[in-house]
Amino acid sequence: SAITNHMPTAELQALDAAHHMHPFTANDELAEKGARIITRARGVHLTDSEGNEIMDAMAGLWCVNIGYGRDELADVAARQMRELPYYNTFFMTTHVPAIALAKKIAELAPGDLNHVFFAGSGSEANDTNIRMVRHYWAQKGKPTKSVIISRHNAYHGSSVGSGSLGGMSAMHEQGGLPIPDIHHIDQPHWWAEGGDMDPETFGLQRAQELEKAILELGEDRVAAFIAEPVQGAGGVIVPPASYWPEIQRICDKYEILLIADEVICGFGRTGEWFGCQTMGIRPDIMTIAKGLSSGYAPIGGSVVSDEVAAVIGSGEFNHGYTYSGHPVAAAVALENLRILEEEGVIPHVRDVAGPYLKEKWEALADHPLVGEARIVGMMGSIALVPNKNSRAPFAEAGTAGFVCRERCFANNLVMRHVGDRMIISPPLVITTDEIDVLIARARLALDECY
Ligand code: PLP
Repeated sequence: SAITNHMPTAELQALDAAHHMHPFTANDELAEKGARIITRARGVHLTDSEGNEIMDAMAGLWCVNIGYGRDELADVAARQMRELPYYNTFFMTTHVPAIALAKKIAELAPGDLNHVFFAGSGSEANDTNIRMVRHYWAQKGKPTKSVIISRHNAYHGSSVGSGSLGGMSAMHEQGGLPIPDIHHIDQPHWWAEGGDMDPETFGLQRAQELEKAILELGEDRVAAFIAEPVQGAGGVIVPPASYWPEIQRICDKYEILLIADEVICGFGRTGEWFGCQTMGIRPDIMTIAKGLSSGYAPIGGSVVSDEVAAVIGSGEFNHGYTYSGHPVAAAVALENLRILEEEGVIPHVRDVAGPYLKEKWEALADHPLVGEARIVGMMGSIALVPNKNSRAPFAEAGTAGFVCRERCFANNLVMRHVGDRMIISPPLVITTDEIDVLIARARLALDECY
């Protein structure tokens, strides 16, 4: 018989555990406890199978930038599916949704980032980047330039390539990552790793690790540096102001391609269209996904400069995905960008809801469990600590974060925890009244943990 939302929750949970393997989940634990079943969503709220209305302060997985339930996107998807549900962009063919979306992204992207290579996700786009930067240098007669420098605790995706670019040790412990010629330097995480140093000196020192790595590996071996403008999945780590200008200087000096992974930061999350604009950097390549379609359809891509596109475009680049520029996903993304632009969602983040959230979020730092509260635009984190007067972590890392997340859930608020950092990334359309509710529930959860 058909499986529907009308079935009892326990039955759905049992079927789920029997057949569905979840990402980043202990599936034995899932079988024991049962997954929470989300049945529908509107605006910034989810509804679960037991009728609870839950505020989603994570916008799904940092992606539902325009909020849930926008019929315009459903209508565009249905129309496009009827007209042309699929065609590929291989072998000298194209279609209007891919053309229009690429042109729109080129208009929105800074500088001369005028060309888009589409993928189905952020992971796929970063896999494209690995091959693209190596092919770029080979085309320029420097095939030894193949090493890509990334950072510990970065997240760039879950495929073999993008998981290798990422610096998540728990991922590297399983399945044979990283692939060769990926080198990781330390992250600019002053709170956790800054010791006695002041934040700006620390930021500069961490940036200069890039220069050290280039000199150690050899200039003739390094192809690119990749980083998120603000590390997201690592715990919303806002770098000291000294960090990015120094990274830019080093990339310019040694002619290293700079890849900004904008999968989370892009499309308004930091209060500008792209995180690189907020951080004042000039990437040669940007990775995009998530907010590109507000998660309504799977799509990602690499946005590249005129120069990179010219080099890659001379001859065939033997790379691509069945769903590169998928017409339905592209049409949905285009409609999402229209809404973001016409409804002034980015100015709303920059000038209205962002500053309001910042004030309320940073005020959480007065709570006895909170060591620091950081936020850029609409991505924020708080560090839970056993002793407010010290930056020392809990003896058993991650337990406080886990408990706090459970208390948030019990109070109908989705926040994530990364170790003992609690993080938020709400839909960008969140109102100031909804921010008041978010903060009240977060504070209640913290009180219940204390
Ligand atoms: N890059 C960053 C910065 C991300 O945060 C993510 C996902 O969270 C990815 C890449 C991977 O994107 P996807 O999950 O769409 O493959």
